[in-house]
Amino acid sequence: MEHFIDVIIPIPLQRLFTYRISVSEAAFIKRGMRVAVPFGKSKIYTGIVFKVHQTPPAIYEPKEIHQILDEKPLVNGFQLELWEWIAGYYMCTLGEVMRAALPSAFILESETNIVRNTDQAEDENLLEDDEFLIYEALQHQSSLKIQDVIGILDKKQVLPLIHKLIEKKVVYLEEEVIEKYKPRLIRYVKLHSRYTSDVAMQELLDSLVRAPKQKEVVLTLFTIAARTKKPVKVSELISRSGTSSSIIRTLIDKEILEEYHIKTDRIEFSGEDTVPTKTLNSLQSQALKSIVDSFESHDVVLLHGVTSSGKTEVYSKLIEATLERNRQVLYLLPEIALTAQLIVRLQRYFGDHVSVYHSRYTSHERVEVWNNVLHELSKAQIVVGARSSVFLPFSNLGLVIIDEEHEQSYKQFDPAPRYHARDTAIMLAKMHKAKTLLGSATPSLESYYNVKQDKYALTEINARYNKVLMPDIQLIDLKDKYKRRRMKGHFSDTLIEAMAEVLHSGHQVILFQNRRGFSPIVECVTCGHAPQCPNCDVSLTYHQYKNQLRCHYCGYHVAMHLNCEACGSSQIDAKGFGTEQIEEEVKTLFPGYKVARMDLDTTRRKYSYEKLFTALEQREIDVLVGTQMVTKGLDFRHVKLVGIMNADSMLNFPDFRAHERSFQLMLQVAGRAGRTDERGKVFIQTYNPYHTILQQVSTNNYLGMYADQMNDRYNYKYSPIYKLIKITLKHRDYNRVELASKWLGKSLRGLFSDCVLGPESPPVSRIRNQYYKNILIKIPKGQSLTKTKEAIIKINNSFFSIKEFRSVKIILNVDNF
Ligand code: ADP
Ligand code: ZN
Ligand code: ZN
Repeated sequence: MEHFIDVIIPIPLQRLFTYRISVSEAAFIKRGMRVAVPFGKSKIYTGIVFKVHQTPPAIYEPKEIHQILDEKPLVNGFQLELWEWIAGYYMCTLGEVMRAALPSAFILESETNIVRNTDQAEDENLLEDDEFLIYEALQHQSSLKIQDVIGILDKKQVLPLIHKLIEKKVVYLEEEVIEKYKPRLIRYVKLHSRYTSDVAMQELLDSLVRAPKQKEVVLTLFTIAARTKKPVKVSELISRSGTSSSIIRTLIDKEILEEYHIKTDRIEFSGEDTVPTKTLNSLQSQALKSIVDSFESHDVVLLHGVTSSGKTEVYSKLIEATLERNRQVLYLLPEIALTAQLIVRLQRYFGDHVSVYHSRYTSHERVEVWNNVLHELSKAQIVVGARSSVFLPFSNLGLVIIDEEHEQSYKQFDPAPRYHARDTAIMLAKMHKAKTLLGSATPSLESYYNVKQDKYALTEINARYNKVLMPDIQLIDLKDKYKRRRMKGHFSDTLIEAMAEVLHSGHQVILFQNRRGFSPIVECVTCGHAPQCPNCDVSLTYHQYKNQLRCHYCGYHVAMHLNCEACGSSQIDAKGFGTEQIEEEVKTLFPGYKVARMDLDTTRRKYSYEKLFTALEQREIDVLVGTQMVTKGLDFRHVKLVGIMNADSMLNFPDFRAHERSFQLMLQVAGRAGRTDERGKVFIQTYNPYHTILQQVSTNNYLGMYADQMNDRYNYKYSPIYKLIKITLKHRDYNRVELASKWLGKSLRGLFSDCVLGPESPPVSRIRNQYYKNILIKIPKGQSLTKTKEAIIKINNSFFSIKEFRSVKIILNVDNF
């Protein structure tokens, strides 16, 4: 009998490929193992075995595989089931899902570049002969492709060898950035606790009369602490008192001063003993009980708890119970921005059971977590991760927690699979018969709607932990402030006064501006010309720091023009404002205070978030200016004031979710204020203080917002009442994309009539020299989603059978919001 396997290859082709295998291979190969297979004329791919069978393909002569790469399946049955669901639901191929799911080190292919790991001094004697040949070749050449390796070794079966070299850390794959975070350890000193009373202090100073230098240090410490009300760094004390580190050492030895470090390394578990989870207060206990009870009847529970209500402590209890039942936990976070603080908290309770998984980690680190989960090791029993962690090889999942479930970054926009990690995780949990808990202070309309439909159960916590008051939110009328000349730059007098008070008391301020850069529009005062990106249909944004004009769509940048390109006038004006400009203005308004900025531009590098967090926590930053990144779960006890610089640009954003989003963003950022004893303050600057959303934000009226917005969604046929599928066409030639989109729109309208919108040009209709057209399909309740998708795929196939449309790219995006 002949034996075959169907293989998933990580490329966007609809079909799986069938290969021939020998009898002995058939006895060994299992679903989920990797195989190296030839493809096309000369390509090699790593594929995943999807099916082992005996049916030869009807239309082509199958090739043989090169070899089997695994001894045991790398991907389990749950995962393959999930991949199929994703491919079906999000209308993409299994190959695309595979590429998203596996860490890149698992997928070697002809185009992969292999590079020597120069970080590691290699003991050549430990290398096998073949390995040594490759190692040596890399001494002369900076990188090798798989084909080169095949040439050097004169054999086809090289992938296992390369995998070995990767494991031995002799080589790595080029796309990985090897960066290690070495946290700075900062030394602080304070007066020993024996001397805190006035009397003791006086006695101390008296005793130091014959050691004037030491006395000077103590006095300086006293002054700095009184002025800044912050921890005092050793380095600062040395420079201010003009002393030496040896005198400080003496004072520490004499136990007059006490030294301490603020712990900075939050990624590695530091091996401290774990502590028991906290005892819940009565609101939290009620919530926990209600969640557990609801799990009897529902697979998914939404925990709607205001910011700082102690949701994380409730999650911890559920995690604890799941560990006791010996099952795995997946804890999803929208962005890794939050993980640092959370991981420390979870590690304190669960020690080394906690693993972290996200895309900023190197492929090596991801491979390690993958293997730990695959082998069900206890150190990966709890995985905290961003959206891609839904792809890990769980075999025994008991609980999925999706924190900040409303966050948009759970949705992947590009490339395919364009999946929503929340919805995918709920599916994953179902497959494992596990329970899912969604948590948010500002739930998405989708989830809340599912509660109303009784698909999810609801649990609420309406007060902050420890009776901390919700922040006091005030609206500032910018129109009035400008009229009465109460503005300095983009700051109203009210905001400036509040900032001054908070800063003088040694506390911190967060300022939120939803745009990065200095100013979004640069315009000639004489002729009105605004410099445009040559590749995209947008104006360039001015970045003062680099004195550049940049395109936020393609990264194009030029030096800032001195004269207008159109008329030569030197009067060029900047309109609107971004985080950079706010940062500059704060520096002028509050010289002497430290300002930092958190946006895409300052956080590109691995660990740059962590560095900013650490600095904020150690109070080296007084004012943090940022985009929505600052809204995400930061928990800092010294932030007393939050300023939202301009609410209107958010509210006016052309998107059907703009109002919902603005509500969520503003309440989340407001939630950063006053998380401890004193009540926090929030100021929202706006031209429209009577806007319904702003009123709802200032009164924390979620239900009012929900009712209003659902009304709109109903009237205008949007999610969650209607399902949405967005079809995007793109091509370099405008006429062709125009023609193609008209054809497609007409065909779709033939089937779905009114439920098809477009084709329309998006607000930015040309990006990287490609022209875009969008078509939106709205699917009413009761219309089968599966049938609709089948129909779309049929129309798509006819589309591509038309010759001149073949080069047009079509992007399908299910739940495109
Ligand atoms: P949320 O996740 O709802 O924003 P957190 O879980 O971060 O809230 O809780 C806010 C703060 O209150 C944290 O500093 C947390 O340690 C503290 N806290 C919450 N619940 C308890 C508890 N039961 N005992 C002690 N401290 C708690
Ligand atoms: Zn001009
Ligand atoms: Zn551009």
